Amino acid sequence: MVKNHYIKPSDAKSWASCARRVWFDNFPPDGPVADIAAFDQLIIDQGLTHEKAVLGQLSENYTVHEAQSVDHTKQLMVEGAEIIYQAHLESPEERLIGYPDFLIRHETGEYQPADAKLSRSDEKKEIQVQLGFYRRMLGSTLSGIVFLGNGEQTEIGDEANPLVNQFITEMRNVLGNDEPPLVRYSHSKCKICPYNQICKPDFEERGEITLVYGVDSRAAPHLEKAGITTVKQLADTAPETIPDVPYLKGYEKKQKIVLQTQSWLTGKVFKLKDFELPSGTWIHFDVEDNPLEISGQKHVYLWGFLKPDYGSDAFEYSWTDTMDEDRAGWKEFLSLVAKYRDEYQDLVIAHYSPHEVTTIKEYAKRYDMFDHPIVEWLLGDSTPLYDLKKPVLDNLVLPLQGYGLKDICKHKNLVNFQWEDEESGSQWSVVQFARFLEERDPVKREKLKKAILGYNRDDVLATRKLEEWLKGM
Ligand code: SF4
Repeated sequence: MVKNHYIKPSDAKSWASCARRVWFDNFPPDGPVADIAAFDQLIIDQGLTHEKAVLGQLSENYTVHEAQSVDHTKQLMVEGAEIIYQAHLESPEERLIGYPDFLIRHETGEYQPADAKLSRSDEKKEIQVQLGFYRRMLGSTLSGIVFLGNGEQTEIGDEANPLVNQFITEMRNVLGNDEPPLVRYSHSKCKICPYNQICKPDFEERGEITLVYGVDSRAAPHLEKAGITTVKQLADTAPETIPDVPYLKGYEKKQKIVLQTQSWLTGKVFKLKDFELPSGTWIHFDVEDNPLEISGQKHVYLWGFLKPDYGSDAFEYSWTDTMDEDRAGWKEFLSLVAKYRDEYQDLVIAHYSPHEVTTIKEYAKRYDMFDHPIVEWLLGDSTPLYDLKKPVLDNLVLPLQGYGLKDICKHKNLVNFQWEDEESGSQWSVVQFARFLEERDPVKREKLKKAILGYNRDDVLATRKLEEWLKGM
């Protein structure tokens, strides 16, 4: 029965992420599967809204017929319908099935597949596979059209064929198995996967070495060949006896991996060397941006700061509702920095990860303001900006699987700072902001804004607590 399973292009996203995930998508497991995350649901909802918007535009100029089945799609094609919405394509011989958003009749009589995608480009593997898959099913010589989320339109042609072939071949192999395929643990993929609760206990029981932060899945088979097959073995190995393998070369890296493994197993914190944090008056800084902004540009809706005395009134920010106010929000951010510079001669503006600096550069470029005195200062040699993640990664080995701000700060034996809202996070913030934009009731709107501000305040408070924790070491 498994062998007869149909391959559908909507599997391409999971396929590009993990073979085991796409197997579970097709053969749902009995164990605990996480619900769709609110952020993913938001993307689905906005994708549907975008699809309806494209449908509305096409309907203004063409007659659109909605397909009800495979046979109905065929009938509409024979009749020469201008545009077929939600077409059903099926190839029983090849066991392929697909549902392009639109089939658009070309003047030659051929049909061109088209999909509405929220994405800003057609570079993602799943988009290439999906459009290429429809072209193959139609036997079409015409390119597939992608109506992107920023209003642009791109085309996918024969260049996607090798990827489509790879997708179909690999999917046949995966779906031909009676059991889910064995794969490596990947923290970035597994922590957001709905099947995490099913897979992770197995990985832990096997002592899979890629559970350890820093062990690359491409290094793992070589380590196993060298006899290091479990986390426990890795923890007990002298770094100098580990051979050079791809993605793990040199004593320092190997020593760090071994310490990382020991730290994760025992909870012990290792300090690799003494280090100092910059002296001065610290202000903590964090931005919240909307990656789903319709214009395709990043919209920073909140630039937040925590200044001395770091108490309940010490949170300041620049906030904007929409892209129309984006420039004003950026200028307000620059004014706040100018004010702090006047107030504190020895200013250190701390943030966690390079994201804040990248964002400042992006905005300076967007508004052609590299020669603005505050921008020059922020991006110059004597910048007050300080990425707190760097001293952590350079000098410490912590009992963690990831070194995100929340990983370190929430850990009871490390910083032990808890966010007021347990659920909050950067994706949570984007979801709340989307609700804020949609909400018409001013009271509810204010409540949503307050929640987002509270989350950002907790983020900067967390970097303050991290600063204190590091200074206390
Ligand atoms: S938890 Fe990880 S290994 Fe399991 S299906 Fe998801 S991504 Fe794949």
